[in-house]
Amino acid sequence: MLIDPFGRSITYLRISLTDRCNLRCAYCMPLSVGQWLPREDLLTADEIIRVAEAAASLGVSKIRFTGGEPLVRPDILEIVTRIAKIDGIQDVSLTTNAMLLENMAQPLADAGLKRINISLDTLNAEKFQRITRFGDFSRTWNGILAAEKAGLMPIKLNTVVVGGFNADELPALANLTLEHPWHVRFIELMPVGNQQDWGDDLPSGAERYVSVQKMHAYLAQLNLEPTETFPGNGPARTFRIPGAPGTVGFISPLGEHFCESCNRLRLTADGRLRACLLMDREISIREVLLNGGDLKALLQQAVDQKPQGHELDLHHYPEARRMSQIGG
Ligand code: SAM
Ligand code: SF4
Repeated sequence: MLIDPFGRSITYLRISLTDRCNLRCAYCMPLSVGQWLPREDLLTADEIIRVAEAAASLGVSKIRFTGGEPLVRPDILEIVTRIAKIDGIQDVSLTTNAMLLENMAQPLADAGLKRINISLDTLNAEKFQRITRFGDFSRTWNGILAAEKAGLMPIKLNTVVVGGFNADELPALANLTLEHPWHVRFIELMPVGNQQDWGDDLPSGAERYVSVQKMHAYLAQLNLEPTETFPGNGPARTFRIPGAPGTVGFISPLGEHFCESCNRLRLTADGRLRACLLMDREISIREVLLNGGDLKALLQQAVDQKPQGHELDLHHYPEARRMSQIGG
């Protein structure tokens, strides 16, 4: 078992498959994104499987693929198929912008993917394009419907709440749960590599952050009732519009820490284990993957580096990577 110095059991590995993305969401990637990682620096499918097998032998039972955009990886179906067959892995999921999902949802389900999280910040096609820079709302929407049809349930929709951009849409997004058994989760904007100006068409730094308490105020008219969370809902605090089949969740990395129950370890696309999303400490496993060595010992070493909690309240922000390079 992987147990960290604070007694938390680490059972969840998030694997970033690539830093590349077909979108440029303003809070995640600057428009001038700079260089992608060289292709030869990305872990191969074989290397990813080796890490997952080592992690599974140490008690990891849940794997999520992320990125960048995991669906731009040409070997995504091969990777999902092989990971889903590893002994001990019970839950394989993926986070996507869904731009490529319409045609891939069923093949992903057939490959062994269990469920999916989809990023959706607005229901307005023009605003969707503005925040994602290149996105097409109808493609993402069709991707969500295709995921539902393929049985990739429960579908979770992740909305990063940005003041001056989509805070006024929270009731409309929450109301999706009246018609669909989806789980809409509102996420506080995290200060990871996005402190710069986002351009004239988007809010300035001073307006962007919206606390979970404020989100609740925007939703007051919906009379949300607290409800049981469900397996796989991670750190979200969960509510329901009375009678709705879906739920409304809130994820508050800043306002309401969930570090005490954190069970995650992250693997970056270039082969570094990262013990905390919000701290820059990493351990490279490249050497061991290339030349042999004790992968399990490195996994335990990374877990030993897990901090008790992040230090955003002390203004210690991660600076080495953008969110798209870590995977959220
Ligand atoms: N491309 C995929 C997607 O957009 O779903 C997966 C990668 S993306 C980095 C993973 C998640 O991180 C998305 O739900 C995205 O909205 C979220 N995210 C990115 N930057 C964020 C930020 N600064 N604060 C909070 N969430 C963020
Ligand atoms: Fe790409 Fe996802 Fe980041 Fe948007 S949030 S730029 S879709 S990685």
